[in-house]
Amino acid sequence: MVDCGVTCSALEREFRTAQQFPKLLDGILVTHEHSDHIAGLTAFSNKYNIPIYAHKAAAESLISRSKCNPNLVREYDGVFYIKNLEINYLECSHDVCCCVGYSICDGKRKFSQITDTGVEPKGFREFVQKSDLLILESNHDEQMLRCGKYAVRLKDRILSSLGHLSNKQASEIVAYLPEIEVKKVWLGHLSENNNTAELAFCEALNALKSAGAVEGEDIDLEVVAYNCGRKSNL
Ligand SMILES: [Zn+2]
Ligand SMILES: [Zn+2]
Repeated sequence: MVDCGVTCSALEREFRTAQQFPKLLDGILVTHEHSDHIAGLTAFSNKYNIPIYAHKAAAESLISRSKCNPNLVREYDGVFYIKNLEINYLECSHDVCCCVGYSICDGKRKFSQITDTGVEPKGFREFVQKSDLLILESNHDEQMLRCGKYAVRLKDRILSSLGHLSNKQASEIVAYLPEIEVKKVWLGHLSENNNTAELAFCEALNALKSAGAVEGEDIDLEVVAYNCGRKSNL
């Protein structure tokens, strides 16, 4: 599982709905220490005794911020393995000491996730190429954000190179994904206040069309928006 940004009970509900069992998890891969990624981490990992995987550069700060059990934390500083899964990470451009995206491969299928980055991370193409599924941040519509109610400082932070990918930035990436053989992309980490699923989807779809790609044939495109009642834009 990647991150644990909702409460333990909300996550347990999701597991029940999916008819899965938290106890069967082999680890939680943490991207970074912002609360929308670790809100339920401590309660959930403690309750089910699940190891927490964090980059070496992020571990100390994660432990002090989340108050998670240090004995459950497994630090990595390179490619690592959980059972038959090979796990790689890519550093993202975000306003924390270390934020990463992950790719997870079982030898046959590859899953990648990149969120919480103000710009396309260095090495992104190689990192996500040939993914069966990529979850990509499409955080905000620039116009909605600029005209919205957020304080100027928060707007500047989100728009900065250490903030979040806009629909426009995400769509520029989506346009070349068929070229690098990504089969399916889910747009995620949408701002509840500065975006809509329709805007994110349409901008990415138009970018695909302009690149001469056909959605549903060259690549599948979807938007995933999980409404857990939190209004965080971290
Ligand atoms: Zn986030
Ligand atoms: Zn963040």
